[in-house]
Amino acid sequence: MSSSVLRMVILGRQGSGKGTQSLRIAEQFGCVHLSTGDVLRAAVDAGTELGQQAAGIMNAGGLVGDDIMIPLVAERLAQDDIMAGGVLLDGFPRTAEQANGLEAMLAELEQQLTVAINLDVPVEEVTQRMMARGREDDTEDAITRRLGLYEEQTAPLLDWFAERGLLATVDGLGEEDEVFARLRGVIDERLA
Ligand code: ADP
Repeated sequence: MSSSVLRMVILGRQGSGKGTQSLRIAEQFGCVHLSTGDVLRAAVDAGTELGQQAAGIMNAGGLVGDDIMIPLVAERLAQDDIMAGGVLLDGFPRTAEQANGLEAMLAELEQQLTVAINLDVPVEEVTQRMMARGREDDTEDAITRRLGLYEEQTAPLLDWFAERGLLATVDGLGEEDEVFARLRGVIDERLA
């Protein structure tokens, strides 16, 4: 079906399994996986100006400014591979300002979102998972800060998407394959 290009957002707490599931969804549906965390980490590793601006903020568990993030994503969304094959946005939008920015970008590109999926995993569980994975920015303080920012800034976006008829919630507890099957079911339904 040529009409069924997937353009989706995945939301969920840090440690919800978003990254892992996103790779699988992108492969399954043939779209680009655009993880803003990956983009920023690559910039930090490459030592670019963006990377130098972002490094300290990321290690402290803060959010990189909307003035940096919105143009970054806007530019990427307009590129040919995403225009033709679709996109899975992972880690964006994270603030109301970014959500409004996304809406404006899509309008400009004459595109519509298929769905925004909330991969739902309780706070206690994600905290355990993050402590176990030990990424550089997974110190206890940074984890607490990131989860706090999520509740404060990103969780309200669930209502924002719901108001637009775009929100679906998927239970993120259980085996990876099981969770993937749930996600796939919801996406297939929305694309049909
Ligand atoms: P996590 O979901 O565990 O925070 P990510 O890989 O999504 O991991 O993001 C890592 C860090 O990159 C965030 O803590 C934040 O500092 C920064 N970041 C990623 N996406 C955004 C965004 N959309 N807006 C602001 N900062 C972001």
